[in-house]
Amino acid sequence: MINIIDGKKIAKKIRENIKEKALLLRQKSIIPTICVIIVGDNKASRSYVNSKHKACMQNEINSIIREFEENIKGEILLEEIDKLNNDKNIHGILVQLPLPKHINAMKVLEKISPEKDVDGFNPINVGKLNLGIATLIPCTPLGIIKLIESTKEDIEGKNALVIGRSNIVGKPVASLLLNKNATVTIAHSKTTNLKELVAEADIIVSCVGKAHFLTTDYVYKNNATIIDVGNNYKDGKLVGDVDFLNVKEKVKYISPVPGGVGPMTITMLMHNTLLACEDQINL
Ligand code: NAP
Repeated sequence: MINIIDGKKIAKKIRENIKEKALLLRQKSIIPTICVIIVGDNKASRSYVNSKHKACMQNEINSIIREFEENIKGEILLEEIDKLNNDKNIHGILVQLPLPKHINAMKVLEKISPEKDVDGFNPINVGKLNLGIATLIPCTPLGIIKLIESTKEDIEGKNALVIGRSNIVGKPVASLLLNKNATVTIAHSKTTNLKELVAEADIIVSCVGKAHFLTTDYVYKNNATIIDVGNNYKDGKLVGDVDFLNVKEKVKYISPVPGGVGPMTITMLMHNTLLACEDQINL
């Protein structure tokens, strides 16, 4: 039996819970607040920032957007982040990537206080994740794990294949799966035996970024779970890495695009903001 993992439905339920918790905090005059920094006028970045802002405001998370000119000096941006680090009313800070080329993105991510790093990209939080220490976890990977967990299938002892090794998705997903005792394999563009790896995988997380990369040319375990992270455009339509219509017949669980990982990412950003807020007020 095929089961479609409905990211929209799962995200909605989590958002209701976030809203409820945020309202309880507001009753104690604590307003969970995120500040999103955007530099320059990248259309895609602006659209992501607006979506995050809207979702936060709908769920009782206060969202502040700080906009800076494309030509802002790196040191000035670092100073602004420092001010936010020291502002008790700001619980989460997110810098929308990519940044203009003249700014050292790693320095910026390092500057965000780890306690307020709701994107989980500060190297301290990356290190903690790899050490298996509780910390703020990058939003898309955390959302992916929640989707896998929604199937109620065990992760422990399963063969998990992560296709893609980016710092923002592939590597943190692999760490999370490893922390949950899966046997994890990471594939990338230099992997030569992907077909064999796919055939042996119980869980496949595809974060390649190529439309319909996983087709029925691959053999899947019939009880496999596939999470499709890809956000690709084909003939003007948003599609994933997986040829969903055909591959869904071959596996047990599969997340669609759109409606799978996408709705979970912003939800996890709100989740992290709430977590950061609770942590900072020592709840
Ligand atoms: P990325 O940095 O471009 O990484 C892509 C990865 O795929 C790389 O590690 C690359 O290997 C690997 N790859 C490329 N061709 C391959 C092949 N033929 N076989 C095996 N591996 C291959 O991308 P990303 O930032 O991780 O994002 C991946 C996708 O997820 C994109 O479509 C992105 O839009 C989407 N995404 C969605 C969300 C969401 O919220 N829904 C969030 C983030 C990302 P190498 O390292 O060897 O180059």
